[in-house]
Amino acid sequence: MDFIGIDLGTTYSAVATIDQYGKPAVLADCYGEKLVPSAVWFSPDGEVKTGAEAKDMLQLGEDVALFFKRYMGQADYTYTAGDKEFSAMELSAILLTHLKARAEEILGRPVHKAVITVPAYFNDFQRTQTVEAGRRAGLEVLAILNEPTAAAITYGINRQEGSRILVYDLGGGTFDVTVLQIESGQLKVLATGGDHELGGKDFDDMLIKHLARKFMADTGYDIEEDMEGLSDLTLAVENLKKQLSNRSSAVINVRSNGERRKYTVTRAEFEELTKTLLHTTQVICDNILSEAGLGWHDLDGALLVGGSTRMPMVYEWVAEMTGKRPLTGVNADEAVALGAAIVASMKARESLGAIGGRSKEDPRFQLAGRVRIADVMSHSLGTVAISSDGSKYVNSIIIRKNKEIPVTDRRRLKFRTRRGSDNIQTVYLTQGESTDIDKCLVVGKYLFHGIEHVDNPDGAVIEIAYSYDANGIISVEGRQLDTGRQLQVEKVELEDDLSWLYEAPKASNFVPMSIIVTIDESGSMCWRSAIEKACKATAEFIRQLPEGSFLITLQGFSDRQMNYCTFESNPEKAMAALAEIEKDTHSARIGYGNACEPIEKCHKQLLQAPTDNRILIILTDGIWDHKNKAIDEAEKAKADGIQIAAIGFGKADKKFLQKISSKDSLSILTSVDKLDAAFSSIAQEFSMGIK
Ligand code: AMP
Repeated sequence: MDFIGIDLGTTYSAVATIDQYGKPAVLADCYGEKLVPSAVWFSPDGEVKTGAEAKDMLQLGEDVALFFKRYMGQADYTYTAGDKEFSAMELSAILLTHLKARAEEILGRPVHKAVITVPAYFNDFQRTQTVEAGRRAGLEVLAILNEPTAAAITYGINRQEGSRILVYDLGGGTFDVTVLQIESGQLKVLATGGDHELGGKDFDDMLIKHLARKFMADTGYDIEEDMEGLSDLTLAVENLKKQLSNRSSAVINVRSNGERRKYTVTRAEFEELTKTLLHTTQVICDNILSEAGLGWHDLDGALLVGGSTRMPMVYEWVAEMTGKRPLTGVNADEAVALGAAIVASMKARESLGAIGGRSKEDPRFQLAGRVRIADVMSHSLGTVAISSDGSKYVNSIIIRKNKEIPVTDRRRLKFRTRRGSDNIQTVYLTQGESTDIDKCLVVGKYLFHGIEHVDNPDGAVIEIAYSYDANGIISVEGRQLDTGRQLQVEKVELEDDLSWLYEAPKASNFVPMSIIVTIDESGSMCWRSAIEKACKATAEFIRQLPEGSFLITLQGFSDRQMNYCTFESNPEKAMAALAEIEKDTHSARIGYGNACEPIEKCHKQLLQAPTDNRILIILTDGIWDHKNKAIDEAEKAKADGIQIAAIGFGKADKKFLQKISSKDSLSILTSVDKLDAAFSSIAQEFSMGIK
C-alpha cells in the first residue's frame, strides 16, 4: 500500500513520494510535468476536467474554478456550475481525486495513504475540511502538515549543523512565515503566522488593474466587464509577471471588444505597482520574529518557498534583511510536497510498527527514522467570557499561539446548577489573539452534558480542556471537579446569528474577584533566584485566571509597602508590574524585614476595591516581625469578608501561615520550586473560574 505527500496549493498542486532508493521525489507525468494547476471545470452535461485540462478551458473562455483553497471552510463561498453548487472542500475533493489517480498512474500501483499540507494559519475548520476532502477522494489522511514546516523538513533533512531559519512562503494565494530551529534532523518551530489573503494572485490583480486602466484610457472599453477578455488577460498577466522575474521588461497583448493593444511593462514599474504587497509581507515577518523573541540578525538565513518568491524583489529584500543570500538547496515549487512525502513515510512506518507488517528496513522508510518535528499553531484558542465589569463579551485565551503541539490546556468554569434538571453548560470556542471578541473567530460550540447539581451557592466547577493534536485539529473535553466525573461533550452547529456577542450580556449576579497578591520583597528574596521563581509562579497563576473573572493588583512588602499597579483586569499590566517587582527586589530598592504591616494595608485597600468579592494572597519566605499584630489584623480583615491565602517557603512558619489565612487549606508551606502547585491549589480552593 503506497503513501504520498500532497502539496495542495492555491494555484498549483504537487505530489511526491519516496522512491525505491529512499529519495523523496516529486511525481512527474509522461510529459515531465510536476505541477498540476489547482483547477476544476464542469461541462454543462456533467463532465468534469481537472488540473491542466481544466486550466486549458480558460483559453476557450470557459468559467473554471480556481483559487478555491482561499475559501476553504468559508460557508459563504460556493462555486456554481449549472444547477449545482460546490463548496471549496468539495472542489478540493475533486482535485484530490485527480491527484490520487494521477499518482497511481505514474507509480503503477494503488495509493491510499497521504499527508496533505495546509498553510500554517489554517484554522481548525479549514484543517478538518481538508481531511474531509482527502477522505472523499478515497485517501486515508495520515497527517495534516503545515506548508512551511514541510519545506523546512526538505531543507533540514540532510543537514547536520544547527541553524535557525525563517521560511518565507509566498505562494499563489497565501503567505506563510515560520521561524524554526534545525539540529540534526530535529525541527522545532519557534513561531508561525501569515496572511491567507495574500499571494501571487494579488500581484497579478495589481497588473490587471493597471493594464485595464491603460486599456480603458486608450479604447474606452472596460475589460473588467468583459468575461472572456478578462480571462485571457488573467492568463497573460501571470505569464508577464513570470517573465519579469527573468528580464527587466516584457510585452503583453490586451484584447477586448474587437480592440487590441500592446503594452510594455518594466520590472521597475511592476515593483512600484506592488510594493504595498511586499511591504505587508515585511510587517508580518517582523511581527513573527518578535513573537519568537528574535531579530533578523539572530537568523542563520531565510528559506524561500512558493512560486512567488521567484520575483527578484522578494529575493533582494530577504537578502537585505538577513544580510545573507537566501538559503538554497531546495526547489521552491517542490519543497512542500517533498517534506509531505517524508512525513508520510514517517507516519506509514509508525503504522507498520503497530501492525508488525512489512520491514522497516525498506529504503523508503530510511529517512523517516531521522526526523523529529515539534510544530506550533498560529492561533490562540479561547472561549467567550464576560468582561470583569459585566458590560460586554470578551475572548478569554486558553491555549496561547506558538505553543508546541500536541498541547492541552485547561480552564475552570463556574456553573450554577439546578436540582433535578439536566444541567448543560455551553462553551463557545474562539480563535484569535485579541480580547476583543469582534477581532476573533468563533469556530465552535460545545455542550457539556450531565453536570450534577451541587448544593453550593457558588455553583459547580467544571474544567474544560482544549487540545491541539499533532495535525492542529482541536478537541474539547470536560470534567466536573466537584464530582471528578468526566462530562459528555457534544459539538453542535454554531448558530447563524452571533450578533448577541456584540451586545451587553444579560445582567448576571456573578461578581469578579478583586485580588491583591502581596509579595515579600525583603533581602532574602534575592537569594537563589527566589524572587524570579515567585514572580514566575504568580505570572502563571494570573495567566490561568479567566478574562473577566478578576481584577488584580500587585504589591511588595518589606519595611515599607510598594504598590505596583491599581486593580487591573488586563493581565498584561499585571505582568508588567511583576517585572517591576523583580527588578526592584534585585536593585537597591529592596527593603528588609516585614514591619510594614502588609495585612492592615491590604485590608484597607480591599475595602476600596472595585468589587466586594475580595481576596488577599500573601507570598513570603520569612518569619514576620510582629506576628501577633499580623494575626490580629488578619482577623479584622476576615471579619470584613476578605478571604486570605498565605503561601510560605524558605524560612516561613507553618503555624503562622495557618493563623493568618481564612482556612487551613488556604495556607501552604512549600519550597520555592513548588510555588506553581501552591498557586494552583489556591485557585482550586477559590474555584477561580468564569461563570
Ligand atoms: P505556488 O502556490 O507555490 O505554486 O505558487 C504559485 C504562484 O507563484 C503563482 O501566483 C505564480 O504566478 C507564481 N510564480 C510561479 N513562478 C513565478 C515566477 N517565475 N515569477 C513570479 N511568480 C511566479
